[in-house]
Order: sequence, then structure tokens, then C-alpha cells
Amino acid sequence: MNISLAEQAKKMTIGSEKFTVPMPPTFSNPLEQRAYEKQRLAAGFRVFALHGFDEGLAGHITQRDCIEPETFWVNPIGVHFAHIKASDLVRVDHDGKIVEGNSPINNAAFAIHSRIHIARPEIKAVAHAHTRFGRAFSALGQLLAPISQDACVFYQNHSLFDVFTGVVAELSEGDMIAESLGDNIAVILQNHGLLTVGKSVDAAVANFVMMDSCCQSQLLAQSAGEMKLIEHDIALKTKQANGSELVTWGNFQPQYQVVLAQDSSFLD
Ligand SMILES: [Zn+2]
Repeated sequence: MNISLAEQAKKMTIGSEKFTVPMPPTFSNPLEQRAYEKQRLAAGFRVFALHGFDEGLAGHITQRDCIEPETFWVNPIGVHFAHIKASDLVRVDHDGKIVEGNSPINNAAFAIHSRIHIARPEIKAVAHAHTRFGRAFSALGQLLAPISQDACVFYQNHSLFDVFTGVVAELSEGDMIAESLGDNIAVILQNHGLLTVGKSVDAAVANFVMMDSCCQSQLLAQSAGEMKLIEHDIALKTKQANGSELVTWGNFQPQYQVVLAQDSSFLD
């Protein structure tokens, strides 16, 4: 059943007839949309920094350009996530040509993200990093189990890419990761890290933060004893509610408020 975002918001809240429920913005001017989306992407890096998802030169978030959708925006190599501004972002086409920006970009970022942007045209953003918990969980070569309502977001909605042949450098490896991802929202890259996608940067980043946290929870639970799993039907129902476009977008908004209050220089 497809219901509008406004109807979803109404179902999830009390008081929506009196007060405004935060909703994803819509744009009539593509240049305004591009400027907004670059700021959200820059904010996504600040949220990654907030969670300690920076690891040297590793990690990238990309946003498909709304005007030229065969190009995408990505972080410049070597800039700490906590310092990235909208004006630092680099736009690259699917052939690897930089069409806007003044910095080189990570080769692995291009090899992985370009192939996912091609394979999943409905997806606007892709997030990937080498995080402490994601990396540890990826070494187990297993999927996240439905052990909480948050983990249900990933129930039958993520995959395991169990091939590690070194740092991703070839487009063919990006194709294999895109194939493993399939129609899901996330893929665990074994012995490597996590990757999530979304219909907005907000959703891709919120999915990533949630997935890393679910990896930590499962590592703790598995270490402590036998896990009780949520039943299949309930897990699916919970995924539909908690993994909806509106909820995943909404999960980013409080984090956005934190980075905005801390340092709004990402807007520049
Ligand atoms: Zn990586």
C-alpha cells in the first residue's frame, strides 16, 4: 500500500492537524535544490564526524546531482569530515571526470559509488565508512539479526558481500558490490565496513548511523548469550513502519540540528 508522506506523518503523530510535522522539502527551482542538497551532504559528513566515523582517508558519502543525474557530489580526499563545507564538495561524472570542484577524490569512492548510482537510479545517496563496530561485525561474515525494532529496518533489507580482495580500485568490484546490494538499503562488506543507500542524503546517513549502532548491539548481545529473535511476520511489519522513507528521513533531522548548533560552517 502506497500512502503519501503527509498521510504517513498523520498516522505517526498526534497533533498533526494543529501543528506542522517536519517533512522533506520540495523544490521548483533546480539550482535551489542543488544548493540545498550540497548543504545536506556536507551536514552528512559532520554527522559522520559526530559519531567518530572518520578513519584517515577512508569513508565517503555521495549525492546524485539533481540537474545532471549522471554526475554525483562527493567529499574531497584528505579533508576531515568535521571540516567539510558545501563549497568543498566535488562533482564527478560516471566516467570519473571531475566536472566541478577543486580537489582530487578517493579512487575507491568513485569505483564503488559510481556503480551503485548507475545500478540504482531511484537512489539519491550512498554512504560508506570504516567504523569500529561495522568493521568488527563485518569480520563475522553474517547478517544483522532481527533482535530489536531498529534492527528490523535491515531485516531482509541488507546483504553480505563476502569477497575481500584488497582496497577496491576497479569498477568491476564496484559492480559486484552493487549486485550484492540488490534492491536492499544496505550491504555489509566483509572484512571492510558498511554501506547504506537512501532516497536522500538524510536517509542514507541515518540508515548508516542506525546500522553501525545495530552492529554494536548485536556484538554485545551475541557476546552475552543466546539472542531471542523477533518473529518473521513482526520483523517485516516493523521494517515497513520503521524503515519507511519518512521515518528514515526523519531519523536524520535531530542529528542535523546538533551539527547545525555546533558549527554551521558546513552551509558555506
Ligand atoms: Zn571502504
